[in-house]
Amino acid sequence: MPVEKPSIAELLRQTSILEAVSDSARLDLEVLLCHVLKKPRSYLFTWPEKVLDQQSVKHFNDLLKRRADGEPIAYLTGEKEFWSLSLEVNAATLIPRPDTELLVETTLDLLDKASSRVLDLGTGTGAIALALASERPAWEIIAVDTVAEAVALAEKNRQRLGLENVSVVRSDWFEDLAQQKFELIVSNPPYIDANDHHLNEGDVRFEPGSALVSGNKGLADIEVIICGARKYLNEGGYLLMEHGYQQAGAVRDLLRAEGCLQVSTRKDIAGHERLTLGRF
Ligand code: GLN
Repeated sequence: MPVEKPSIAELLRQTSILEAVSDSARLDLEVLLCHVLKKPRSYLFTWPEKVLDQQSVKHFNDLLKRRADGEPIAYLTGEKEFWSLSLEVNAATLIPRPDTELLVETTLDLLDKASSRVLDLGTGTGAIALALASERPAWEIIAVDTVAEAVALAEKNRQRLGLENVSVVRSDWFEDLAQQKFELIVSNPPYIDANDHHLNEGDVRFEPGSALVSGNKGLADIEVIICGARKYLNEGGYLLMEHGYQQAGAVRDLLRAEGCLQVSTRKDIAGHERLTLGRF
């Protein structure tokens, strides 16, 4: 029988509801409760005996039920942290992954110039473009996505963060992009095979297929990007892409077939081959 006027401590004890879907049940409860109360986590530990009003309890219980049905925390709170930036997220785009910070890190390593032009293909929330823009205020960054809702979301995030050096444009990869040249192209494209069982597990079930799934064993979009890149890169320009942990060899072959030099792969913190780059 649920308590009618539960305290913070009582609400946070309901871990068993989430144990089947989450290996961080207690943390999930804390994050959802902070979201409902619009307070930092420290508030929960300072005021455990505080009783919630009915509206907040209802809001919390609704979110808890959706989480118990598997919905990702980021879609419930509407935000996700990436490269220490708080980004708004919604079901039109992928939730930014910590793994993808490797693309940002590698880009910053490769291009140690104060001013540069960079293209982010398939920007989604804008995560990569906005992280780069926050680190390199003098770079000019174009972020494209083919999904209109993603373009709107990335633009909203850009405005929220006040990053003036990013332009968000709608384009299907290079298709609708005006001819121009960049020093570097970065992308986290869809790269999962449609039959991959991961698509039926966890958070991924709630994310849009357009951001996850690609034909030809997950390589179709990567191939389009590799084949189109030369026209948009200065001589010696870089292309770097995230890919699945078993795709590095295939991506290196595609880059070499396009005549790229200095083709190499970087591993993520889990030791998986996570991104591959080449120089045109
Ligand atoms: N790395 C993500 C996952 O495995 C997929 C990201 C993508 O397809 N670009 O869930």
